[in-house]
Amino acid sequence: MRSTRFHLLAGAILGMLLAGPGGAWGQAAPSGAPPFQARIEDLARALQNAPRLKDLSEQERIDRVEFVVGNTLFILLHELGHVHFSEMHLPVLGREEDEADTFAAITLLKVGTGFSQRVLADASQGWFLSERRDEQTRAKPLYYDEHDLSSQRAYQIVCLMVGSDPAKFKSLADQAKMPESRQRTCKRDYAKALRSWDSVLAPYRRAPGQTETKINVVYGDAEGSFAGFARAFRAIRMLETVSERSASTYAWEAPFTMEMQSCDGPNAGWDDEKRVLKICYQLAFDFAELYRAYVAPPPPPTVANQKRKRKV
Ligand SMILES: [Zn+2]
Repeated sequence: MRSTRFHLLAGAILGMLLAGPGGAWGQAAPSGAPPFQARIEDLARALQNAPRLKDLSEQERIDRVEFVVGNTLFILLHELGHVHFSEMHLPVLGREEDEADTFAAITLLKVGTGFSQRVLADASQGWFLSERRDEQTRAKPLYYDEHDLSSQRAYQIVCLMVGSDPAKFKSLADQAKMPESRQRTCKRDYAKALRSWDSVLAPYRRAPGQTETKINVVYGDAEGSFAGFARAFRAIRMLETVSERSASTYAWEAPFTMEMQSCDGPNAGWDDEKRVLKICYQLAFDFAELYRAYVAPPPPPTVANQKRKRKV
């Protein structure tokens, strides 16, 4: 369907509940911890007996849950970028897919918390790992695709980060092997991108006292290994966190829906006929698989394994 954009994406784990009500991720909680981050950490603690996570330390569990939630959040914001283009009839002067990534990155940089910065670092790492997986599975790069190649998407995030604050993100850019000369020009890229998005969105900012447009939130049911993901995202109020912030910031002309659902693959998309932004649980599962395959430390040798080794 012409109006439907579904995106094949990267990413594997999770499964549980917990957390309470709270504001958007940028607001400080009474405890001083951002509520969204606190809910993710609560989720990671609640997962201490999950089969794939029980042998990890608490910090390793938090890192893994943050990677999955962070990459999924980045895609949710990317899709929200498409909703802005569609609903606000914004000019598209380049590749819309690139601009949707830029929207997601700028939104998170504006939040400006340690957590939002880790989400961006996780998202760039997610794209680098996708590239590595593609190389290992000998998946050919699709030069004709509407999206940039995975490593280009990763570097675009790093570029906007180091462009926004060269001192803070230099080590991240160095780690990604981005040359210093490119790090310097990213400053200009970031300034232009920020100015452009601020300028096109300015007429749509909600005035103080203006009624908020409802953004509906739906968590579809899921079965089998995906049911845990459904409970987890509901528990951390993933969709509410983004929808409440967006409804409060922008004067949307008409209501629309953000939905997490079970699909036949790791997809996400905005359907401008049904007016539904869709994120599939399978996408989060894929991120968990990606992390488990390429980041997670190998399991420590068990007594049984050691005995087996000695026999051979
Ligand atoms: Zn897209």
